[in-house]
Amino acid sequence: MGLENIKQVAVIGAGAMGAQIAEVLSRVGGYRVMMTDINDELVNKGIQALRDTLQKHFVDKGKITADEMRAIVDRINGTTSIPDAVKNADYVIEAASENMEIKKIIYKQLDENAPPHTILATNTSGLNVTEIGNITKRPDKVAGMHFFNPVAIMRLVEVVRGAMTSDETANTVCEISRKLGKEPVVCRDVGYGFLANRAYLPMRNEAVQMVWEHVASPEDIDKALKLGYNLPIGPLELGDFTGGWGIGAASEQDRIREMGEAKGSLHPLIRLMVRAGYTGGRGKKGIYAFWRDSLSKW
Ligand code: NAD
Repeated sequence: MGLENIKQVAVIGAGAMGAQIAEVLSRVGGYRVMMTDINDELVNKGIQALRDTLQKHFVDKGKITADEMRAIVDRINGTTSIPDAVKNADYVIEAASENMEIKKIIYKQLDENAPPHTILATNTSGLNVTEIGNITKRPDKVAGMHFFNPVAIMRLVEVVRGAMTSDETANTVCEISRKLGKEPVVCRDVGYGFLANRAYLPMRNEAVQMVWEHVASPEDIDKALKLGYNLPIGPLELGDFTGGWGIGAASEQDRIREMGEAKGSLHPLIRLMVRAGYTGGRGKKGIYAFWRDSLSKW
């Protein structure tokens, strides 16, 4: 299916990434979007989040008018039913929780209910695309489409080829990424973390280890990395912003399976924080707050 035939897109998961991806699909791509989550509250929260983003970053800054915002939001509809979300979709982007068992249940439903021509793209941060594709009867039409957070700003999309992903599918994922104003980089799904996260996460883990050892506060560790390496944002504040701690906890077993215990295991501090509810992500506390509330005094 070529880019010109894609009119309607389904987004699975209305969380931090799903809501942002839906926003960009409508605002930049002009697509009609059906966004789904497991209950009405989460769907509505996702729609409210993208409304807030549009208001704060686009209307209030004079980048779009209130009428344009209304048209962008009107193109996005919510549902709690995956069959309803995908039955007329020409393209699906799955941005549900980072856990292989959850994704497998979802992909079975996507395959059974989406039209045969429809590409099923996953925004997974590193789960195996070949394995996800093998749940379906269309592994050639399954690929990774890994956006970065915040989706409206970050230009990279990693286009991940599973062993069975066809050239046509990979090309279409690249084309739709470009249409959304992104720069696609193609890679194979070996290991966990594709390209950028695979190189970045070991550095973030070392920063977490320094917090654990009380070498310095999260703020000062981030400051050192920002000033020393000219990073726009420190790895610890980025983990707080993206919810990387919760994602890491949800995907631990999958990472160990791909990379072994030494590289895949969750750092004990991340495990502790997540157990205390400090997952990071939209509206949730992370490592900065955990340091303040507990670890610095522990
Ligand atoms: P999130 O927890 O904010 O959102 C995930 C949503 O999926 C939740 O609202 C959850 O209820 C929903 N969900 C779970 N099972 C579902 C089902 N069966 N049907 C529909 N919805 C379902 O997580 P997130 O941060 O948005 O991450 C989503 C995906 O994007 C993950 O695979 C993650 O690895 C990836 N990702 C995250 C980031 C980031 O910065 N947060 C960046 C790139 C990729």
